Amino acid sequence: MLVFTGTDRLMHFLWSAYADDNHQYHKQFVDHFRKIDVVIGEIAADLGEDDTLVMMSDHGFEGLETEFFVNRLLMDNGLLKFNPGTDANLTNIAFGTKAFALDPGRIFVNEKGKYPEDSVAPEDKEAVVEELIAIFSEVEVDGKKAIKHIYRKEEIYSGPYVDEAADLVLIAESGVNLKGTMASTQLTGKGPFTGKHTLDDAFLLVKGDTRRSD
Ligand SMILES: [Zn+2]
Repeated sequence: MLVFTGTDRLMHFLWSAYADDNHQYHKQFVDHFRKIDVVIGEIAADLGEDDTLVMMSDHGFEGLETEFFVNRLLMDNGLLKFNPGTDANLTNIAFGTKAFALDPGRIFVNEKGKYPEDSVAPEDKEAVVEELIAIFSEVEVDGKKAIKHIYRKEEIYSGPYVDEAADLVLIAESGVNLKGTMASTQLTGKGPFTGKHTLDDAFLLVKGDTRRSD
């Protein structure tokens, strides 16, 4: 098994070089993929009759327009609080918190019996879920909706551990990168990255001898 990790790093930091033909590193960016093509070609050329070559990517990429700090939105709406004088992180969540987020857009209701400072009684959970859906459906970045889709856990998870899954999973609009960071003082921001993951992938399966007699 062989993993190419460089493509991921390159696209996080230098998607801008890919997108712009005139970028100073555009050629180096494209050359990196050409080199990987050559390596894949060498592997494919060595396949015997009984061999199978499987290639896959676990996600796709697109340009990153803005980071979006989901927990900041929860704090601004009074749904997430931290104990006074402590750092904003998971261990300092205060009683009275109704929900918190983990990367990239997983929202957990602070339900009684599940977390240390549990604050939401089971009979109140649905009301919190609906409040969250209303907030995330409306929120905008630069005049555009930030969230494309909101899944309830029952829609996307099943099995014996479904109770431990996030209560809501957010899918962002193109270019919006959801972050579970708790310490951000801003709702949006831009770090060093110019590219972000997407849900797209690629898959190729090649069976047998690819060598040709010609
Ligand atoms: Zn990555």
